[in-house]
Amino acid sequence: MIVVMRVSSKESEINAVKSKLEGVGFKTHLIQGVERIVIGAIGDKRALPSLGIDLMEGVEKIVHIMNPYKLVSKEVKEKTIIQIGSTSVGGDIMTVVAGPCAVESEEQLMESAKAVKEAGATMLRGGAFKPRTSPYSFQGLQEEGLKLLRDASKIYDLPIVTEVMNIKTVELVAEYADVLQIGARNMQNFDLLKEVGRMKKPVVLKRGLSATLEEFLMAAEYIMSEGNYEVILCERGIRTFETATRNTLDLSIVPLIKQTSHLPVIVDPSHATGTWKLVAPMSKGSLAVGADGLMIEVHPNPPEALCDGSQSLTPENFNKLMQELQSMHSLLHA
Ligand code: PEP
Ligand code: MN
Repeated sequence: MIVVMRVSSKESEINAVKSKLEGVGFKTHLIQGVERIVIGAIGDKRALPSLGIDLMEGVEKIVHIMNPYKLVSKEVKEKTIIQIGSTSVGGDIMTVVAGPCAVESEEQLMESAKAVKEAGATMLRGGAFKPRTSPYSFQGLQEEGLKLLRDASKIYDLPIVTEVMNIKTVELVAEYADVLQIGARNMQNFDLLKEVGRMKKPVVLKRGLSATLEEFLMAAEYIMSEGNYEVILCERGIRTFETATRNTLDLSIVPLIKQTSHLPVIVDPSHATGTWKLVAPMSKGSLAVGADGLMIEVHPNPPEALCDGSQSLTPENFNKLMQELQSMHSLLHA
């Protein structure tokens, strides 16, 4: 349920409503949109009729949300814009998170960071903890990788997005990262979701390999229910019978999310297709269906990459794509 407060409501009125709800066991979330202020209240609705919330000062109305996802729902807020350093996600800026699959060395990361910055990326990606299918594959440089990301972030003035794989390393990763990434394989690791929900850092939540829209949104709800409202959803392809591509990019989920949630959505065409030649057309498709941005793998030397070389763009190809995407973005938002 949400309590919609009048735009003119006073802080004391908001606090009075919150305390009344909390007094009978509701957990409350204050969500401030541009056009309205709402108090999300999660708890046993049977206590509600006796409270007289609808009669309290500053209250406009009470809305019951039928969806299983509540805080994620569009009924709570029209649009979420997340500020990350000097950039933002979900507003007018085209977000492009670019960089290598994994941080491999100082030289490789600095070259990648320089290339993506010059081409116009807004954030730098790179995995320091890698979820690999084989335990014998490169697992990432771990804390050393995080330090390199921090250095690159300073030099090239790019916020960094990096994956956190388990609860034990959340604090460590959060010390270095600007944005915590939850990988597809961890989308329903509920303890991890709750843990990042307690952090004060934005989260990129990747769609699970076979997650439905509802499961995806419920995973975001887990993070938000702990008080972290800065969640960026990322469509990265799902498993289907098709084997010609690594996964199948489900572009229809982008407008579907936009119709059901206020959270920003980005698309990762690299992991969705597994093939660098498909990254440009699917990036353009993603913008066309309303994505707020993209996550793209870029490597200075893809054939030598320790991870995901076949889906990584060279700096030249990334630069060319960025120019096309920028023109497209201006046209779409003219
Ligand atoms: C990644 O972005 O590095 C990654 C491993 O992606 P996903 O979790 O979508 O497979
Ligand atoms: Mn990868």
